[in-house]
Amino acid sequence: MKRFENKIWLSSPTMHGDELKWVTDAFEKNWITTAGENVNEVERLVAEYTGCKYTTALSCGTAALHLAVKLVGEKLYGQPKPNQGTLQGRKVFCSDMTFDATVNPIAYENGEAVFIDTEYDTWNMDPVALEKAFEIYPDVKLVVLVHLYGTPAKMDEIMAVCQKHGALLIEDAAESFGATYKGKQTGTFGIGNIISFNGNKIITGSSGGMFLTDNKEDADKIRKWSTQSREDAPWYQHEEIGYNYRMSNVIAGVVRGQMNYLDEHIAQKKAIYERYKEGFADLPISMNPFDSVNSVPNFWLSCMLIDESAMCRQVRGEQDSLYISESGKTCPTEILEALAKYNAEGRPVWKPMHMQPIYRSNPFITVNGNGRARSNAYIKEIGMVDVGADIFRRGLCLPSDNKMTADEQDVVIDIIHGCFR
Ligand SMILES: *Cc1c(COP(=O)(O)O)cnc(C)c1O
Repeated sequence: MKRFENKIWLSSPTMHGDELKWVTDAFEKNWITTAGENVNEVERLVAEYTGCKYTTALSCGTAALHLAVKLVGEKLYGQPKPNQGTLQGRKVFCSDMTFDATVNPIAYENGEAVFIDTEYDTWNMDPVALEKAFEIYPDVKLVVLVHLYGTPAKMDEIMAVCQKHGALLIEDAAESFGATYKGKQTGTFGIGNIISFNGNKIITGSSGGMFLTDNKEDADKIRKWSTQSREDAPWYQHEEIGYNYRMSNVIAGVVRGQMNYLDEHIAQKKAIYERYKEGFADLPISMNPFDSVNSVPNFWLSCMLIDESAMCRQVRGEQDSLYISESGKTCPTEILEALAKYNAEGRPVWKPMHMQPIYRSNPFITVNGNGRARSNAYIKEIGMVDVGADIFRRGLCLPSDNKMTADEQDVVIDIIHGCFR
């Protein structure tokens, strides 16, 4: 097999031309800063598409999540004392297998993330582990949930646990824009939710993010905070801490142009997922799973999980990894190396937050209860499972670029077959 002449990306921006039209419009009208028609229109379009009532366009998904966490933190605990964060010392339940941007905003507000283990059915927060977490920490009032790789989490179960314990939910729908659960868009279940227009997401503004809510006051508050918290006065008057988190009208032009293509991108990503599924039917692997009765993912990234019986030995340190090649078996490291050799880009599954050096001392809750504060002997005795670590060990993200042709994907499928020989 020949190396791909043009790199096959994991997920790269796919532009269509309309984006430039709206960017040019911003230039021609000289509305190139953080106000203008594009910003207003993008907010309107996302509200219309998702069915949420109010949206606030921001500089990135991480900024949106920071303000969402701060907003809900204030609802729960009031305004912080000087030099304290909104979540000062308080625990927040959070998805464990995710990008660190889901978790960092909790730390920005001086809270402590308690990581909830993952389930095998959708690779999202396990509602059983979440219930365990409330047994151990009954005072927790906030849950931050991700829909990984565009696959909706078990919303009925998660919402029921939150309601039972009087906790509020924030959805990180950065990866799942356009995905639905029982016909309702992800990013519309929680009290304040976010999506991202980062360069590799399902649609992009080159950067950008958005806050979604059904509460007008909350949307207005986020807008105010994101533009330096100016009060309504003739001079710069400030009663609250401000941020420079608003989306630029130039970026909004790109997003505005992309909105017309969201459904097309989802259809392309779905076709990629299905071609992989078919192409791998003879291999000892499974694809990243979803609930086909209740949910429709946006199929942002196609991933695979190697059966335990087909795993060769693989050891991962903090920064590098080794494996022992074995006939009939493979591992993510070997597959990722093979893809790179042919100029295609794969990626390990998100390394769980409870395994990250920066968050290693935070609590981690599995279906057995507290996975950390116990001795190894105890963990063995209860037969503790760590689903996130297992998926990280056996899983990987496949090249999922919209612009990959069917022929190119067939070559990727062949390369991966080669690893199992
Ligand atoms: C991309 C991403 C974010 C952050 O979005 P940015 O726009 O890059 O700041 C947050 N959470 C998850 C799960 C993401 O994948």
